[in-house]
Amino acid sequence: MRVNYNYLSNEFSETDDIFQEWKELIASTDFTLGSYVEEFELLFADYVGAKHCIATNNGTDALILSLKSIGIGIGDEIITVANTFYASVGAIVAVGATPVLVDCDESYQISPTAIEEAISSKTRAIMPVHWGGASPLMDDIMSIAAIHGLDIIEDACMGIGASLQGKHPGTFGRVNAFSMHPLKSLNVMGDGGMVVTNDDDLGVWMRKYRNHGMINRDTIEFWGVNMRLQPLQAVVAKHRLRALKETICKRSENAYLLDDLLSSNEDRIKVPVRKAGHQETFSLYMALADKRDELLRFLANVEVEAKIHYPTPLNKQPAAQKNCIISPNLKNVNSQAQRLITLPVHQYLDSEHMKYISAQIDQFYSL
Ligand SMILES: *Cc1c(COP(=O)(O)O)cnc(C)c1O
Repeated sequence: MRVNYNYLSNEFSETDDIFQEWKELIASTDFTLGSYVEEFELLFADYVGAKHCIATNNGTDALILSLKSIGIGIGDEIITVANTFYASVGAIVAVGATPVLVDCDESYQISPTAIEEAISSKTRAIMPVHWGGASPLMDDIMSIAAIHGLDIIEDACMGIGASLQGKHPGTFGRVNAFSMHPLKSLNVMGDGGMVVTNDDDLGVWMRKYRNHGMINRDTIEFWGVNMRLQPLQAVVAKHRLRALKETICKRSENAYLLDDLLSSNEDRIKVPVRKAGHQETFSLYMALADKRDELLRFLANVEVEAKIHYPTPLNKQPAAQKNCIISPNLKNVNSQAQRLITLPVHQYLDSEHMKYISAQIDQFYSL
């Protein structure tokens, strides 16, 4: 049996609906913003439960737009987690602010205690990441932010389709960012992203900034940039949003089954405790494994594709030696990086694949 990590060739095996709508789009010549992008923005705002959705060309720009909208810049410290994708930190540096990298908890999510320890007189905001499609303890983080008068910008790039106590990622912070990159739960066959907020003024400002600061074709209110989502991608986003519930449901079935199967080996390979009331997207199904590198090679030989997210945490990247404040205590981030393994549980796999993965892992640890 072969267990692929990559699902992209499966996802778009059936594209008639999308092509039909692309034909209509091409006939309409609505190629920059326009009705297709607006339609998706309304659908997504409604889906997430936010007042405004502003679609952007990718998740990194969605983060930059979020930070800029609340005036974050030079001299501001933004607390985020050291085990995240590069873009969380890159976006903070791109607006001239200083990332403060802190530790995660046992579920690989930013630790509220670590956030509190890192607050200084220059701290402006907290950027919690919904890492891997699971969520941090948002209630605790919200209380810390309230006590210290800090803003929250959620990096919900992997969190489309997740929820915690009935609320979606993107509804906690003041302004929050998502990605629709092919490896996220809503895949638009290319790049795409969006920002959501409930703040009317921020919504209006971001819409203008995304489009050169234009009020209309002939009038620029302030200098902006071009961060627009492509209408072709907006069409794909709309179609994939319809499939999102089923996507998450299938991934969850696989993930919970694999949790069960792996529990017989829990002294060698451990998955985090699933938090009550949290729905994860399982963008990354991550476990902590003994002899991780050997296990990875063993699995590759039996055609189970596994990955590491990531072998080098951000605090150990050459880039982090500049522009960043690194917390002295990154115990979990550093130790997890030695043991993390990401196993495939995507929506085109089923229980037979999960049993095969688990049987191979049993085999490896019994050697
Ligand atoms: C993917 C991702 C981003 C960046 O999104 P892009 O659309 O690839 O620019 C930012 N943060 C996290 C946590 C991500 O997973």
